[in-house]
Amino acid sequence: MADCLFCRVVAGEIPADVVADSERILAFRDINPQAPVHVLVIPKQHHPDVGTLAANDPATLADLHATASRVAAAEGVDASGWRLVFNTGVGAGQSVFHVHGHVLGGRPLSWPPG
Ligand code: AMP
Ligand code: ZN
Repeated sequence: MADCLFCRVVAGEIPADVVADSERILAFRDINPQAPVHVLVIPKQHHPDVGTLAANDPATLADLHATASRVAAAEGVDASGWRLVFNTGVGAGQSVFHVHGHVLGGRPLSWPPG
């Protein structure tokens, strides 16, 4: 999708601080981090949200989860704890409609979230 921000990141048209790159998945640091570790994990193919990805390409969603786990370990937060968040819909704070999991860690994470 030419007008999608994260499709443009995948295409290399917008620079990103990439921490993992595979056939189907890209992971890069969030430009406005909410925690010491804040990495976005996305499928390279465009899907608007996690529900459509789950319905249409569950293997890629599994790959995304596995990548998130590897990123957490590589970032050194696997022992201290980390969170994988998919904001879904405007009411939940989704602002980019190319599905992305937020890997958050490196500080205490409150529950329930705000
Ligand atoms: P969400 O609000 O769940 O849709 O998350 C979108 C996230 O994308 C926010 O945390 C933004 O800080 C982040 N973001 C927006 N543009 C970029 C960019 N060019 N590179 C990295 N992260 C970005
Ligand atoms: Zn996209």
